[in-house]
Amino acid sequence: MTFAFDERLDGVLSLVDRNALITEIKALVPELELLHQEEDLRPFECDGLAAYRNLPMLVVLPETVEQVQQLMKICHVRGVPVVTRGAGTGLSGGALPLTQGVLLVMSRFTRILAIDPAARVARVQPGVRNLAISEAAAPFGLYYAPDPSSQIACSIGGNVAENAGGVHCLKYGLTVHNVLCAEVVTAEGECMTLGSQALDAPGLDLLALFHGSEGMLGVITEITVKLLPRPEMAKVVMASFDDIAKAGRAVGDIIATGIVPGGLEMMDKLAIQAAENFIHAGYPVEAEAILLCELDGIAADVHTDCQRVRDVLKAAGATDIQLARDDAERARFWAGRKAAFPAVGRLSPDYYCMDGTIPRRELPSVLRSIAELAAEYRLRVANVFHAGDGNMHPLILFDASEGDQLQRAEALGARILELCVAAGGSITGEHGVGREKINQMCVQFNPAEITAFHAVKHAFDEYGLLNPGKNIPTLARCAEYGRMHIHHGALPFPELERF
Ligand SMILES: Cc1cc2nc3c(=O)[nH]c(=O)nc-3n(C[C@H](O)[C@H](O)[C@H](O)COP(=O)(O)OP(=O)(O)OC[C@H]3O[C@@H](n4cnc5c(N)ncnc54)[C@H](O)[C@@H]3O)c2cc1C
Repeated sequence: MTFAFDERLDGVLSLVDRNALITEIKALVPELELLHQEEDLRPFECDGLAAYRNLPMLVVLPETVEQVQQLMKICHVRGVPVVTRGAGTGLSGGALPLTQGVLLVMSRFTRILAIDPAARVARVQPGVRNLAISEAAAPFGLYYAPDPSSQIACSIGGNVAENAGGVHCLKYGLTVHNVLCAEVVTAEGECMTLGSQALDAPGLDLLALFHGSEGMLGVITEITVKLLPRPEMAKVVMASFDDIAKAGRAVGDIIATGIVPGGLEMMDKLAIQAAENFIHAGYPVEAEAILLCELDGIAADVHTDCQRVRDVLKAAGATDIQLARDDAERARFWAGRKAAFPAVGRLSPDYYCMDGTIPRRELPSVLRSIAELAAEYRLRVANVFHAGDGNMHPLILFDASEGDQLQRAEALGARILELCVAAGGSITGEHGVGREKINQMCVQFNPAEITAFHAVKHAFDEYGLLNPGKNIPTLARCAEYGRMHIHHGALPFPELERF
């Protein structure tokens, strides 16, 4: 059972002559591996958002940039859509294939090309796993800071395409702040270098534009990332609260001191209990919420900051405050947080992970509203998220085989995202728009803004062949979505009436 979607609204249904395409690829790029039997295509039918599925017409697994170029040239001439895929861990359906398109899988680009400890950079292929960069840099006392919870599996190419975040991005920035340079192949099969190995590059900042572009502007084939020295010391403070709103307020209080924690994460009761049962991290299962606050830097500063944070947490009403006694306990506290998604997945047959961002000050009220919405839709919601960034991840628990639970989960997810917009935030913090949030783009942006997005896409992809139907809605889709809201009498935002 999957979420319904209507590709007619995105104009991606032109028919492709599959056999002719296969014949041409085999003739012009004979060494390129192709998969076209149904049993070979099946593993690629979805990404991490399994509620959307589509069997790709064809899967290609290139090993060289030249193969990517040749494939893109063939698809460009034939008008064949191309969806690029990294590790397929995306949670918004960005790598969801098209039944009338090629799925270009970059998983064989796994080489770390160079590590330069003097310049503190690493040059890597896009299929390299996020964690593998830090592992390779470790002998030099260096690491790559952005650390999505999926870092053991997700690719750095996918991280750039989604502008991925993670626990440590509050202090060290998102992917966009940690990449110096990228090589890309365009829709026409040409190579471009974006950014430079130096701190700045002249011209328009196309490198930043590619961050979060979700495979819609080109194929990323090489990336130069910044490396940081490992901090001398890192400590984690865990605070328990008997009220989630108090925990939400404590987040703002910590930031107001001027301290920038290495990470500041929140989990609510359902998430705490799920993680504790799964990982045995030492979490307080009776607490309504916990905050995990990491402080890193030189030892003297870390000791002072720990004391200041403890004082703030106490004043904010924490019922218990623990400082991880050693690195092993610190790793355990983080292991619970990093495994929270799969842990919550053990509570119900299906779960749907949302990703919205709000101003930190709105945390208490938005958490309360999410609880009210969960009751309205008769579904359980666990909250585990990057509180310091205001980046929320409500996890909606449901059972797709039970009645209309799937539809209720999808509708509740949409309401939560729209709640984030109403609170002055955004419909994504790090998971991207993909297929999942395409309707909510119509809530976040007005027609002029959406038209500008289309103009930028058109500059890179004249025929709209790169990942069509994702990320940027057509105005027709927005008009349809606006009408739907009006029809149900639940129009949350008056600006939709303009469509
Ligand atoms: C358990 C779990 C936890 C997660 N935690 C986090 C988290 O903490 N923070 C976070 O940001 N995300 C998180 N994610 C989401 C996901 O891991 C990230 O979005 C990640 O960046 C996706 O990388 P990927 O290689 O799997 O990309 P894919 O899923 O394969 O693709 C994602 C998008 O990138 C495009 N793309 C991929 N490779 C390229 C390329 N070489 N060139 C051009 N476009 C490309 C695709 O077309 C698609 O639009 C989590 C996912 C899971 C399953």
